[in-house]
Amino acid sequence: ALIYIENECRRLSRLSMKMLELTGLYEASEDSFNPAEIQVDNFLKGVKELIDCRLQEKNISLDVFCEPKELVKKFDQDLMISVVTNLIDNAVKASRKESKIVLEATPDHLMVQDFGKGIPKEELEMVTEPFYMVDKSRSRANGGAGLGLAICNEIVKLHQAKLQIMSKMGIGTQVSVCFPKEVCRQVNSEKMEMEEEV
Ligand code: ATP
Ligand code: MG
Repeated sequence: ALIYIENECRRLSRLSMKMLELTGLYEASEDSFNPAEIQVDNFLKGVKELIDCRLQEKNISLDVFCEPKELVKKFDQDLMISVVTNLIDNAVKASRKESKIVLEATPDHLMVQDFGKGIPKEELEMVTEPFYMVDKSRSRANGGAGLGLAICNEIVKLHQAKLQIMSKMGIGTQVSVCFPKEVCRQVNSEKMEMEEEV
């Protein structure tokens, strides 16, 4: 009985933390949103250290790619840590023991890919709703509240970015934070100008 009470206390504590985080985001003001230029490769290494215990629970390896290596992006580091750790947490829940998860950054996106059970096509639009869980009983056993992706979605919106989820049942899931296109447009227009000059 004590173990059950302890587990429930931990679950409720996690739930209230997440609810606070989400309400805070709905009311986010300029003071609480602090974007800065971040060295993405270092950021990803930091995330890997933070989430390492969670990965070890299932002996899952995390492959990290940053292209280009010296990539710098402007975002709120603490909030983006919350996004990436939530996405990796979901990926761990969906994955089998001894599998792998990929964490990738490019100028256009930050992406977490797993090779786990996948999300049914008809549920893809709903998973970012607060408290939505595909498999309620399972997620509760995992200690989930259905708030992680809602939190990610709010943070991503604050950055004027988009959360894109692609999944195939039995194959795996890719969740990407797609950054606004300004940088790409600049590069493309520079390229176009160069082509015109040639
Ligand atoms: P919490 O994040 O609050 O601990 P949760 O993980 O259940 O709980 P979300 O992160 O919001 O909640 O995810 C919502 C649901 O979407 C999950 O319950 C799960 O059914 C599904 N889901 C999310 N990510 C994945 C994934 N990578 N693979 C398979 N299903 C996923
Ligand atoms: Mg989650």
